[in-house]
Amino acid sequence: MVNDPVCGMTIEVSNAAAQERYQGTTWYFCSDSCHSKFLVDPARYAQHETMTDPVCYMEVSLDSGYHAEYEGKTYYFCCESCLGKFMKDPTQYGRADA
Ligand SMILES: [Zn+2]
Ligand SMILES: [Zn+2]
Repeated sequence: MVNDPVCGMTIEVSNAAAQERYQGTTWYFCSDSCHSKFLVDPARYAQHETMTDPVCYMEVSLDSGYHAEYEGKTYYFCCESCLGKFMKDPTQYGRADA
């Protein structure tokens, strides 16, 4: 059993109407409509996942407004200052949680 991250419904994987890979996790949906909503703003729904801020090592939720793409990976930051430090020199932080 898995939870549809959009409507919160519990569904059987075999009954899922759609599925989507996001941030290394496969998400399942009860309907195409939930799936479409997820695709519009996946970070908003995939909230039970947290990432480590590679600059200060704080746990940040994926709905954090501060994030950056680097080498195909999305990094999340607790604040603008951490994001700024990362952008200045991503190679210094990019492998922190590899
Ligand atoms: Zn649903
Ligand atoms: Zn930080």
